[in-house]
Amino acid sequence: MKKIILSLLALTSLSVYSQNNQKTKEMTPEMSEFYTPKIKVVDPGKLATELPAPVPSDAIILFDGKDLAQWKNSNETDKNSKADAKWIVKDGVVTVDKKVGDIETKLAFGDIQLHLEWRTPVGVHGQGQGRGNSGVFLQGMYEVQVLDNFQNETYVNGQVGSIYKQTPPLANPMRKPGEWNIYDIIYTAPTFKEDGAYRTKPTVTVILNGVIIQNNTTILGTTPYIGFPEVVKHGKGPIRLQSHGDPSEPLSFRNIWIREL
Ligand code: MG
Repeated sequence: MKKIILSLLALTSLSVYSQNNQKTKEMTPEMSEFYTPKIKVVDPGKLATELPAPVPSDAIILFDGKDLAQWKNSNETDKNSKADAKWIVKDGVVTVDKKVGDIETKLAFGDIQLHLEWRTPVGVHGQGQGRGNSGVFLQGMYEVQVLDNFQNETYVNGQVGSIYKQTPPLANPMRKPGEWNIYDIIYTAPTFKEDGAYRTKPTVTVILNGVIIQNNTTILGTTPYIGFPEVVKHGKGPIRLQSHGDPSEPLSFRNIWIREL
């Protein structure tokens, strides 16, 4: 834990450095990746049922297996388009279509409790960041990493449940390819000062397969692949799901719901 805090402090000071120094454009991806300390693997136990988890009565159902009426393509050129997202819906699950790109909710949210279930296919190929990579972007800004880290290592601040390129998860309780992983994410949106700085920073708690992996973690800013977190003023925003460019077989989602807090 101490090492994680030290790494975070290093990252934070580097972030300040990068913002004060116009050399961010010269950065490489590796400059914001770290590999230690290793994250412990936890067996979350077997699911009691293959069925999706129950849905609370006041939840907004974002995907119930039927259609993507609550979603649109993120790269829609017509921002007012009401067209549904184009990922593939079949047999009660939605599978990433990498040709389409990211998708996002048509609704925008602030503080939320989000539930979603996801799995990579049996026999998925690839390694590191190139296996079952996706992500949940809170308010369209901050990525909670989705990645198949079952017996698959990568930089710890980019593995499943990390706040991408910021904070590693507390544990790795992944189920193996073909089995459903369950995310429950509790998020508090930031507030901003007039000048665009955070008045209160965003925070997030993440539970994966019943194991807490982010405990009221402060989000430092955006979660770019290259560079360090930046503070960008924003209001309510969508939940965005990432279509990653890696060549591995695409992952699927089911049973996505949200409660506004
Ligand atoms: Mg990702």
